[in-house]
Amino acid sequence: MKLVILGAAESGVGAAILAQQKGYEVFVSDKGVIQPHYKAMLDAHGIGWEEGQHTTERILAATEVVKSPGIPDTAPIIVKLHAQGTPVIADIEFAARYTSAKMLCVTGSNGKTTTTSLIYYILQKAGFRVGLAGNIGRSFALQVAEAEEKGMPDWFVLELSSFQLDTMFDFRANIAVLLNITPDHLDRYDFCMQNYVHSKMRITRNQQPDDTFIYWADDEYVPAELEKLPHVQHLLPFTDLPAEGSLGSGVGQSGHDAYGFAPGAVLCLSAPVPFEMPLDELALTGRHNLRNCLAAAMAALQAGVSPEVVRACLHDFSGVEHRLEPVGTFHGVHYINDSKATNVDACFVALKAQTTPVVLIVGGTDKGNDYSALYTLVREKCRALVYLGADNAKLHAAFDALAAEAGIAVADTGSMAECVAACRTLAKVGDTVLLSPCCASFDLFQNMADRGRQFKALVSAL
Ligand code: ADP
Repeated sequence: MKLVILGAAESGVGAAILAQQKGYEVFVSDKGVIQPHYKAMLDAHGIGWEEGQHTTERILAATEVVKSPGIPDTAPIIVKLHAQGTPVIADIEFAARYTSAKMLCVTGSNGKTTTTSLIYYILQKAGFRVGLAGNIGRSFALQVAEAEEKGMPDWFVLELSSFQLDTMFDFRANIAVLLNITPDHLDRYDFCMQNYVHSKMRITRNQQPDDTFIYWADDEYVPAELEKLPHVQHLLPFTDLPAEGSLGSGVGQSGHDAYGFAPGAVLCLSAPVPFEMPLDELALTGRHNLRNCLAAAMAALQAGVSPEVVRACLHDFSGVEHRLEPVGTFHGVHYINDSKATNVDACFVALKAQTTPVVLIVGGTDKGNDYSALYTLVREKCRALVYLGADNAKLHAAFDALAAEAGIAVADTGSMAECVAACRTLAKVGDTVLLSPCCASFDLFQNMADRGRQFKALVSAL
């Protein structure tokens, strides 16, 4: 069996090592430059690789191809593979063939990393043998390969992107969590929202009667998809809308009954087991995080964790870097790093969670954003807008008129140093400076983590 791996980063290199362990003839091809430590890992295992090119004949001779989620279906080499009928799969699909562990999988447009990390934290604290992988942390395939010696976990908690789901066919999620579906990455889906919705719904593919699907009942798209899923029998919807009347169940915006809900100041579940917790005991703040906590609590309880452990973990979870991460208070101003907010929806929920006047930092590489969704909140919450990007023209066009009319100050900056200096000048005591940029970071930074860390370093030096 000849396996070709396209893309030699965390997921590809892990898949190569697992494939070799399982007796495949493996070759790794990356059109870009392979990082030195990944080359060293491949060399240490005697796995052949190439960089800066794809040798077509060698790739087309594969029995099966594992593709990095970053490579679109329109890439010429993928088009050729599809044309000749060669299966092209995700590393997750490949690795799942070699593990007996149960799969707890999380997808959604926003909140995946937070919820996945929280579930992993709870399962670990409960004493489960558990691995964390997918779009997060170390390669799933590599962890499966290592399990040969270390022993297999009972559970893997996997964060799955739509790109991974697109190339998963036989994979089965024992517990699937779908947080929300809002427009994102539409450039990879022929600018058709329904294609993206289908991709996210693939998380339920192959579910068996004893598997569980946890979803947000208020989502605009998911409830309508349920009738297309007769095989998914165990549904656990949740809503963050305050419930009216009885505490027996909540009702989502869509009219669907929900088993997880938040009546007033309490987080409540009526299934999979009864569970209650005051909202002010939750470590994570903001309405969006309430949804993430509801989903995580349901998933962990469904996996068999005791309510006591779930409650303790929801209370002391320290959050995830770059997601509404408090940086500290300097000269009476609170600074929050939400660099991970790379779309308008993420910024929306971040802004909504603020309780003081806000100096909002937005900008970067725009993915076709429609900023009008933010207008009401900006008017309501912002003292100032600080644009941070190599080219801020679109931000000026989107916000300047509104800002002038509402008396909101505007600053134009082209580096993090300029940006933090502008925030220091514009913010008043008691305000919050919120980096929640709506955009990718590649115009000025290596990635969103680099952007967040530069922000934190400069703020900490104020
Ligand atoms: P992902 O991994 O899906 O990108 P993260 O957990 O990293 O999600 O969170 C990214 C940003 O998305 C957060 O900073 C927050 O602003 C926003 N967010 C998080 N959870 C939700 C949610 N359930 N609904 C809407 N937005 C959310």
